[in-house]
Amino acid sequence: MCGIIGIADVEPVTDGLCLGLMHQQHRGEDAAGVFAYDPEIDEAWFHKGHGLVKSVFSGVTLPDTERWGIGHVRYTTSGSGGTRDIQPLWQKHGDGCLAVAHNGNLVNYVPVRKELEDQGFTFETDCDAEVLLNVLASALPKDAPTYDNLCAAVQAVMQRLTGAYSAVGLHSPSGVFAFRDPWGIRPLLIGMHPQRKAYMFASEVDALAHLGYTLAGEVQPGELCFVDSDSTLHRRQLMECAHGHCSFEYAYFARTNTTFEGMEVYAARTRLGEALARKIVEANIQADVVIPVPSTARTAANALARALNLPYEEGLVKKDHIGRTFIMPTQHIRERAVSQKLSTVDSIFAGKNVILVDDSVVRGTVSKRVTQLARRAKAKSVTFASTFPPIRYPCFYGIDFPQINQLIASGRNAQQICEAIGADALVYNDIETFKDAVGVPDLCTACLSGKYPTKSTGASELQALRELHLIDR
Ligand code: 5GP
Ligand code: SF4
Repeated sequence: MCGIIGIADVEPVTDGLCLGLMHQQHRGEDAAGVFAYDPEIDEAWFHKGHGLVKSVFSGVTLPDTERWGIGHVRYTTSGSGGTRDIQPLWQKHGDGCLAVAHNGNLVNYVPVRKELEDQGFTFETDCDAEVLLNVLASALPKDAPTYDNLCAAVQAVMQRLTGAYSAVGLHSPSGVFAFRDPWGIRPLLIGMHPQRKAYMFASEVDALAHLGYTLAGEVQPGELCFVDSDSTLHRRQLMECAHGHCSFEYAYFARTNTTFEGMEVYAARTRLGEALARKIVEANIQADVVIPVPSTARTAANALARALNLPYEEGLVKKDHIGRTFIMPTQHIRERAVSQKLSTVDSIFAGKNVILVDDSVVRGTVSKRVTQLARRAKAKSVTFASTFPPIRYPCFYGIDFPQINQLIASGRNAQQICEAIGADALVYNDIETFKDAVGVPDLCTACLSGKYPTKSTGASELQALRELHLIDR
């Protein structure tokens, strides 16, 4: 998972690109990069590095003439994580330059890269964005990079590449563009400046709002948006497909004030908490207090507490500077970080039947740890409640849901998962309740159901599951 941004303005953009990336930092903390271009003097500028946006750009003098630019914050799911893999990636294209950054994961990266290598393309990175860049560059005539030809080139990308790719790009001297894979797995919003002829693309709404842009819709699945050198926006639908917007964006990934597919994430999380409350009543679980696992689950826990008429207490304290543990690179680092990161306010737990609410249980690292903490703080009983249903299958579209044997829910029923995390009771939303609560048709639920929106997933592990008839396709 990553965050992306693209701006075509009549005013300088580099500081706006950095700010917009900071507003999307939660989507990737591994690395950040910006590629900008000044169409007046035909000059490009770039900077990238490992770490948070503020440290990558600290002490860097930002140029103040570039009016077009794209940027990226990275959460490594493909590639080695080395410096060369940091996006945006770019290459010479005729007399100009072509740059891209994307959010997602290409499931047919390996075979397409092999085909390209056989055709004489060389690769400098292990990042799937380089495959996307090469497919695009090879389909876009160097001597005629017109809008029509860009449309045909992006269509070639969509025909050849399977998986999740919400992309921003810049072609000098033509303009800035953005497109989304035909399934629309990852988000991509369009912003319009209310006072001047300027457009912006971003993964989440905060980036738009803080730069003074108004949300003007979304790049549609299979659509290309292109802002030309006169700052005119052109839109063209290039491919139609059954959609599969990522469910997990609503449960965990996005900030609550973002709206995807017309649905505000805060409202969706509120309904997810209310749905969980109904499950708790059905299971006849008695409780004294509702405690969120910070931070994402707060909205749902609050709604759950209101629905059950129970007190909501922030009994778990998180040290924010330790960062998002899930996107840390290894299980060992994750476990160490989780155990350092959370503490209890003991008086909230002592002698109480507590409901701990989290957005998801993936490997079980956090749920086990907070259950232990609750017991250490002398809770009478611990019910663990997850707004996201059991994750039983891997994600191949850019979320680091690992191999199937690392998923705590894989091959276990609810009782067995409950025992594995050490709780007295465990409650999940089921897939149908989840979909109803989010309220968006055509959600991807592949990691829950094993039904992947793309025909191929590129994974040998899935092939094996298919052969065992454990999943449909
Ligand atoms: P687990 O500890 O079970 O492996 O993962 C679940 C916990 O990690 C939950 O507390 C959830 O908030 C968090 N989480 C789940 N998915 C992600 C993710 O993709 N990124 C990050 N940063 N955290 C996640
Ligand atoms: Fe999102 Fe799960 Fe689909 Fe991956 S498999 S895109 S995490 S819903």
